[in-house]
Amino acid sequence: MFQLSPDFESFREDARRMAERAFRAKAAYWDEQEEYPQENRDLLAELGYLGLVIPEEYGGAGAPVIQGTILLEEVARVCFNTALVTQLALNGPARAVAILGSEEQKRRWLPGCVSGKHLFAIGISEPGAGSAMTDMSTSATPDGEHIVLNGQKAFCTSGHLATHVFVFARWGKTQGPRGIGALMVERGTPGFEIGHPAPKMGGRGVPEVELYFDHCRVPAENLIMAGDPDSTRSFKRLMSSFGPERVGNAAMCLGVAQGAYELAKSYSLERQQFGRPICEFQGIQWKIADMATQIHAARLMIYRAATNLVDGFPDPLEAAYAKLYANEMVQRVTSEALQIHGHYGYTREFPLERMVRDSRGFSLGGGTTEILRNTIASMVCGRSFDQRRG
Ligand SMILES: Cc1cc2nc3c(=O)[nH]c(=O)nc-3n(C[C@H](O)[C@H](O)[C@H](O)COP(=O)(O)OP(=O)(O)OC[C@H]3O[C@@H](n4cnc5c(N)ncnc54)[C@H](O)[C@@H]3O)c2cc1C
Repeated sequence: MFQLSPDFESFREDARRMAERAFRAKAAYWDEQEEYPQENRDLLAELGYLGLVIPEEYGGAGAPVIQGTILLEEVARVCFNTALVTQLALNGPARAVAILGSEEQKRRWLPGCVSGKHLFAIGISEPGAGSAMTDMSTSATPDGEHIVLNGQKAFCTSGHLATHVFVFARWGKTQGPRGIGALMVERGTPGFEIGHPAPKMGGRGVPEVELYFDHCRVPAENLIMAGDPDSTRSFKRLMSSFGPERVGNAAMCLGVAQGAYELAKSYSLERQQFGRPICEFQGIQWKIADMATQIHAARLMIYRAATNLVDGFPDPLEAAYAKLYANEMVQRVTSEALQIHGHYGYTREFPLERMVRDSRGFSLGGGTTEILRNTIASMVCGRSFDQRRG
């Protein structure tokens, strides 16, 4: 049986207290106003949480994946928009730089991630290359002391505020995963333009934007990994450094589901119909039981993925299981929690409708549930299924 150590349980208690005290009151505000929760990010920085998983030599706490998972769960239980901010800090490009960056790059960039001065975003997807990310066409052409970027990126979370974007691009006239590498582009670099936030269904305080590169000359010292035209090595290495992102995504699902379940449980004890609390009806009890069971199953899968590490990263199969299950679980749980609240759940007076909306994006970002199923099928069958025709 999986059991968290007393240290991690006490970390959870601290994180829960902090989230309740600092983030609950304005959780609806960020959604309604479509405003970025900057003050919460500032607090996370002040408390050292933005640097939780960054190595100690660069100012972070060097905490393991499971600790970041617990933090994400507790923040998402209370405020989804703040969880998105936390996820990008814990499992986004800063972690990739800590693994793949040169010593000089780590010293130049990571302390700013810990303090909150730097906000790193990630640009992989393109308008025509989402699930098929290896069809990306943004080109990177070395030119003396620079690398020249041309192309467009899509769906870049927090790109409107980012100080740096970790951009994947293609070296040479390559196709598929061969030739894909990455570099860091700083805000203000000539030829780099940032689009406007697109209004969306959930996570409305933390939008996605498009990025445009037009003969954008990036200093060669910002190169993270050049694309290798003769092998898939550079692409695979880059992707592995984002491995914990899937477990973090699943942990946010767990937190949102836990929050919705707690609200539904207490509402069912209070709300009276037919002269008794609705929790006395078996139909409601079964909903509560199903929610509790699914949350419990997701928690076990997520904690196992966060602790069963291969070369320091969550096992890819465990991470895919956890994200797939949690992405679908949170949609079922938030929907049933709204159902238990009846019409009140459908109004904006209660947080349930927001939780339902917030939950919807999980099964799209960080690998859709269809792509996760493809990944799992390949791994359990021990062969790669080509998705292309012909
Ligand atoms: C909230 C959110 C935040 C995001 N943040 C970022 C970010 O910061 N940076 C970034 O680079 N990207 C980001 N993304 C983009 C995300 O990675 C893409 O949305 C995702 O890869 C899917 O691409 P797509 O939206 O173009 O859908 P498509 O790839 O066009 O897919 C459309 C549908 O077809 C299905 N499909 C496609 N191929 C297959 C197949 N082979 N088998 C079965 N079904 C298939 C998909 O699962 C989906 O249901 C974000 C997305 C979301 C929702």
